[in-house]
Amino acid sequence: MTRDAQHTSDRYDLDALRSAMLSERGGEVDDSIPELAAADPDVCGIAIVDRDGDVRDTEDADREFSIQSAVKPFVYALALADAGDDGQAVLEAVGTEPTGEAFDAVILESETGRPPNPMVNAGALLTANLVSGSTPDERFERILAGISAFAGHELRVDADVSESEQLLGDRNRALGYLMRSRGTLGVPVDDAISVYARACSLVVSAEVLAVMGATLAFGGRNPVTGEQVVPGSVVTTVLSVMATCGMYDGSGGWMRRVGLPAKSGVAGGLVASVPWQLGLGVYSPPLDEVGNSVRGVLVCERLSDDLGLHVFGPPPA
Ligand code: GLU
Repeated sequence: MTRDAQHTSDRYDLDALRSAMLSERGGEVDDSIPELAAADPDVCGIAIVDRDGDVRDTEDADREFSIQSAVKPFVYALALADAGDDGQAVLEAVGTEPTGEAFDAVILESETGRPPNPMVNAGALLTANLVSGSTPDERFERILAGISAFAGHELRVDADVSESEQLLGDRNRALGYLMRSRGTLGVPVDDAISVYARACSLVVSAEVLAVMGATLAFGGRNPVTGEQVVPGSVVTTVLSVMATCGMYDGSGGWMRRVGLPAKSGVAGGLVASVPWQLGLGVYSPPLDEVGNSVRGVLVCERLSDDLGLHVFGPPPA
């Protein structure tokens, strides 16, 4: 970021932005599991992390929620890193094409039987089981340690969310069996679900997502802790797939409007990365019809416009 752009974001009135968002009443809270259905629709937390690791945030930015699908780019990054060779084995196992379908659509690439990309459930079920580890517990421990490094502190699992995800995950099981039938999931379906469900149940906040987004924005180096979490070559792949597939079936419109690699989750979390400039995290539970946080999208649109963050936008004034 140029010095001027950095100053602009330093001075930006995030509290005023949050207040403006609170009058936005659209969207519905996800009700796929009881823990998500109980979320407060009036919450809106916003956080930004810059290259110095300085965090700016609003009220509600420390509200905790389960990461859900916003974990997918980070799991993908760990799987790519663990595979070595710039993640070649993972790139062969999981496609990188947007689907134009819902995140949990029961579809695989017809020719290969591979998941279409790592941002839909089939892909994440697979990548969560391509990280290092010979048992489901070892793989989950790797994910927990790796994602904690993205976040800059030790994360924990919400045990109730994890249990509900496992109990109510029939569609994910269907995807698992479909992959098994095509020979593309190398572990038993229950093992795959158990790792994936725990990964989706990690507890984060808007502030934590902003640090995680900043770690991707700065080439895999966490700007708060200074730790290089994954190699930069892996991050280029992750950000590219986030840019094309990260916002469910609204990814094209999001990219045109906001112009940033991002990922959302059904709890209402949204993480975005402004390459070499900022990490953004937003949490607000009501979702639009494709599954993105209504206020999360609006916040990012506003920040992108006001700070000139669109990756294909004009140079900063
Ligand atoms: N709980 C999730 C699942 O059904 C993650 C959903 C999401 O956030 O998109 O796999």
